[in-house]
Amino acid sequence: MTDALGWIAPDAPLLDEQRFGTKASVLSKAARAGLPIPPGFVLPTDMNGVSTADLETAFATLEKRHGQQPDLVSIRASSIGPGSDVVPAVLNIGAAGDGLPRLIDRYGDRMACDLNRRLLHSFGVGVMGIDEEEFEYALYDLMREVGVEAEADLSLDQLSRLAETYHDVIAEMGGAALPSDLIGQTHAALTEMANLWITPRAKLRRQARGFEDDAPLARIVQVMALGLGEAEISGAGIAHLRDPQTGLPGLTGRYLANAQGNEAMMGLRTPRVLTMTEREVRGLSEQSLEECAPDAIAHLLEIGEQIETELGDSYSIDFTLADGEMRILELIPLKRSARAAVQIAVDLAENGAISRSDALMRIGPGLVDEHLHPTIDPSAARDQIGQGLPASPGAGAGKLVFSPDTAEEAAASGERVLLALVETSPEDIRGMHAASGVLTVRGGMTSHAAVVARGLGKPCVVGAKDMSLNRVERTLTAPDGRVFKEGDVVTVDGGEGQVLAGKVPTLEPEITGAFARLMEWADQERRLGIRANADTARDAGTALGFAAQGIGLCRTEHMFFQDQRISAMRQMILAETEEERRAALAKLLPMQRDDFHDLFVRIQGMPVVIRLLDPPLHEFLPHGQAEIDEMAAELAVTPQKIRARALELAEFNPMLGNRGCRIGIAYPEIYQMQLRAVFEAVCHAGQETGEAAKPEIMIPLVSAVREFDLLKSEVEAMAKSVSQDCGVTLDYTIGVMIETPRACLRAGDIAGLADFLSFGTNDLTQMLYGLSRDDAGRFIPNYVARGVFEHDPFHQIDEDGVGEIIRIGIERARERSPDVSIGLCGEHGGDPASVDFCHRAGFDYVSCSPFRVPVARLAAAQAAIRARK
Ligand code: PEP
Ligand code: MG
Repeated sequence: MTDALGWIAPDAPLLDEQRFGTKASVLSKAARAGLPIPPGFVLPTDMNGVSTADLETAFATLEKRHGQQPDLVSIRASSIGPGSDVVPAVLNIGAAGDGLPRLIDRYGDRMACDLNRRLLHSFGVGVMGIDEEEFEYALYDLMREVGVEAEADLSLDQLSRLAETYHDVIAEMGGAALPSDLIGQTHAALTEMANLWITPRAKLRRQARGFEDDAPLARIVQVMALGLGEAEISGAGIAHLRDPQTGLPGLTGRYLANAQGNEAMMGLRTPRVLTMTEREVRGLSEQSLEECAPDAIAHLLEIGEQIETELGDSYSIDFTLADGEMRILELIPLKRSARAAVQIAVDLAENGAISRSDALMRIGPGLVDEHLHPTIDPSAARDQIGQGLPASPGAGAGKLVFSPDTAEEAAASGERVLLALVETSPEDIRGMHAASGVLTVRGGMTSHAAVVARGLGKPCVVGAKDMSLNRVERTLTAPDGRVFKEGDVVTVDGGEGQVLAGKVPTLEPEITGAFARLMEWADQERRLGIRANADTARDAGTALGFAAQGIGLCRTEHMFFQDQRISAMRQMILAETEEERRAALAKLLPMQRDDFHDLFVRIQGMPVVIRLLDPPLHEFLPHGQAEIDEMAAELAVTPQKIRARALELAEFNPMLGNRGCRIGIAYPEIYQMQLRAVFEAVCHAGQETGEAAKPEIMIPLVSAVREFDLLKSEVEAMAKSVSQDCGVTLDYTIGVMIETPRACLRAGDIAGLADFLSFGTNDLTQMLYGLSRDDAGRFIPNYVARGVFEHDPFHQIDEDGVGEIIRIGIERARERSPDVSIGLCGEHGGDPASVDFCHRAGFDYVSCSPFRVPVARLAAAQAAIRARK
């Protein structure tokens, strides 16, 4: 059996994390690197029982490695990940029974007695699961009774009395007397720790802290580092070599003289800080450890550097000083903010401690978000009043408003507002633009509010269904009954999906330094191109700022909601004849041309996918009576006429109705106007900048190749006509948005005619599941919570279904036309797991909201690294 043990020693093989747990594996690495780690052996996770005979053999080897017989040992739990910390270490094993006389000889009566009562305390807590407080109360009661301030001032007699009380505590909890010898005590502690590990209470504690509840357990037996002895240079502490917030080097921590384990952090006595700098910053009068023991600090710094180089990460170091001699007991990965994680990974790669690809793999793409948006200060208190879906990251605070108009008015007068609506529609975009954040009580991850907010980079929470919103009364009611009125300040945390009362302090984003460096490395690694979904020159600017390689989707309909355009658009929709329609379109032409012109100038010759009009026309008509009256007055028609037209256009299933290329076929003049605007803008922008844009014209919602064939001819005809008028040769391509299941299956035929395909995975998911993307938010959270769906398929691509049909589409398209360019432009383009799928499925690029571009760049690099492994 002893062959199965692992060893923590400079000359022992490295311990595998899966078999020996994280703690043991890290300690073994540190010991091999020559760091001062007390020697020890480890019982692997698959070793259930251990006999005293086996332990005798193990102790004999331990004695050889240690150079002498150990008086005392400690036992620590080691599981995979940080979950083992829910079981405290058992210290001073051996300080009872037969071992005491030797301890008395070595350390004197008082200290031997102190070690004994510490063993009882630690045994009670660490292996019997008795509450820490039981022992602490006994200690405080005694200290109060005898009138001493510190444990160190307790006399031998008083310590013996304390040990008696501890015995009683253990006996009351049904504990047996400790065996008399070191091996027996070790055996008992190992057995009890394994029993304690699987109790429902321990499992619950692990669960509560987010760790795996049935994680297997390895156990470390190590020579004890005492921490007791000459004042000041004997004690225990914890040191962090870097700032957990920024990740920059800087030693901080706590140290307590005459202490063991984590006593420095337990608040029994006031610990010292480690350095003079920290003492000054915190305005403390008590000397720092640096002033009491400068050598110890020098040693800690040296050790810290060595740990980073040898172990390839930054750790919090649990250390002990025994008469000035440093021992390291535990290395816990430094808890760090998103910013610090990036700084540390980049520093480690630049110092050669890890490779650049390791640095890239260490940064969860979610952490990138925190670099791009203001985020809630982690130290701020959160008064949560609602929970929804985390639709668009970042924190936004402002006075509550309940209409987009109020949002615009308030923002115009310099107020920060938070726009709360039941759900949003295209008319609300300007209000969303004006707000610092958006909250809806309905809607899912691909609802209008979510898509637009991500595009605008606005913090947004959607589907906060436990809150009730009364638009008439202008109130928002939290599930606990609190009512928030218009003007009350509320914060949304779009990363967590939380709604919080008041203005919660935030941290500003930063895209420089280490983060910029990491992004450079990501670009060197990735194969997938990353483009952005951008509808305006402004969005395109944001996308370029994040180093997007072009625009993968310009939804042209969004241009129609701005300024004067909506009125001309409505005129066009109300038109009863083609002639009337053309007259209205003629008004739209210059506006749309200007929009494209600005976009082309801004994008500086990079590719731009222009998608022709997609939504059903009735989406542009007003809905409420007041809006209808307003429109009627503006267009000099009767409200009845508007209502009648709206009725005519109404459809039972608008998302499956007259939309996408079907509009282009039903009313060819609409696409003709858009195409003229695009091509004329190319000519004008090219003349101005000297660099001709190369638009990629995309036809939406194709399901039959003939649809594309018809519209392709229209595109070519218009290009020819504008080219002749302007005397410019136009360079453009024509492609298809693959967003119906049939288009996936017919992708071979389509690719035979198209220059490019772009998978619209929002509609594709909707159609393949038969699941409305605008209504799914109401029940998908419940589905995910109950394990019906593993993820929200509108958020993370469903590889099994949607992924399969995409793969079929790609295979058929490439078989027919090997060079056809293939992209993805649904919301999944900004989701790391979906980007990984796109890499594996052979896409050429993904396109996502501008603010997701850095996340996608990193995710694409990670996908490439993963695929190489
Ligand atoms: C899609 O359907 O995936 C898409 C990108 O288009 P939209 O969201 O505009 O329907
Ligand atoms: Mg679509």
